[in-house]
Amino acid sequence: MDKLVVANFKMNGSKDFYKATIKTLCKEKLLDTKLILCPPFVYLPYIKIRKNDAISLGSQNIASQIDGKSTGETSPEMLKAFDVKYTIIGHSERRALGETDDLIANKVKLCLDNNIIPIICVGEEKKTKTSFDMIIRQVKTALLYIKDKDYVPLFAYEPLFSIGSGKVCDNDHINKAVNLIERTALESGFKTKILYGGSVNETNYKSILKECNISGLLIGGLSLKVDKFRELLKGINNG
Ligand code: PEP
Repeated sequence: MDKLVVANFKMNGSKDFYKATIKTLCKEKLLDTKLILCPPFVYLPYIKIRKNDAISLGSQNIASQIDGKSTGETSPEMLKAFDVKYTIIGHSERRALGETDDLIANKVKLCLDNNIIPIICVGEEKKTKTSFDMIIRQVKTALLYIKDKDYVPLFAYEPLFSIGSGKVCDNDHINKAVNLIERTALESGFKTKILYGGSVNETNYKSILKECNISGLLIGGLSLKVDKFRELLKGINNG
């Protein structure tokens, strides 16, 4: 099955950075990889993905409801006008700004109602005895409004202690968390696809993909270093 690689550029880059980066990435021959590029909203109009079916556009957020009185929000229709097919939802950096599990469930619903694929981020703050309870709650709530039990939700397991820290989570722990996400979703009637995100780099990705039961990677910092990011993509291709 194809590996998914999601690039979360966060609030970085410039118009020129995206023009150049996307042009370079579009030349990559991606064999068993699907690449999803998630730039900030304002750069979407400058991104043209040509002749590469393996690359799609994603956004880093979406509104939680359709309401013309939502100052500063972005609707699914607006995103689709720029060919956005995916959106990252519930990233820990947005949860830290006050996004609740309920709000995230509404965003998941809005995505599905509008044929956008949500990438639902879940993850615990610290490794403690009760930290996995947080993941269970996040997974269960995110699935609340999905009616179609044949739908396969896409989760990203992103432990907060790994994101942006340079310290990748150990593979045993990733597998435990992924297993928990799978079991929790199954209890709600869903099969899942799960990505891992948190300090993935151009060398550690190999053992993560080899030893963890995941469908791909969500990448932050490395996506800003185009040469290293391409190294990772080439490595996955050569498998
Ligand atoms: C992220 O923020 O989603 C992420 C995975 O970041 P990084 O790769 O920089 O840890």
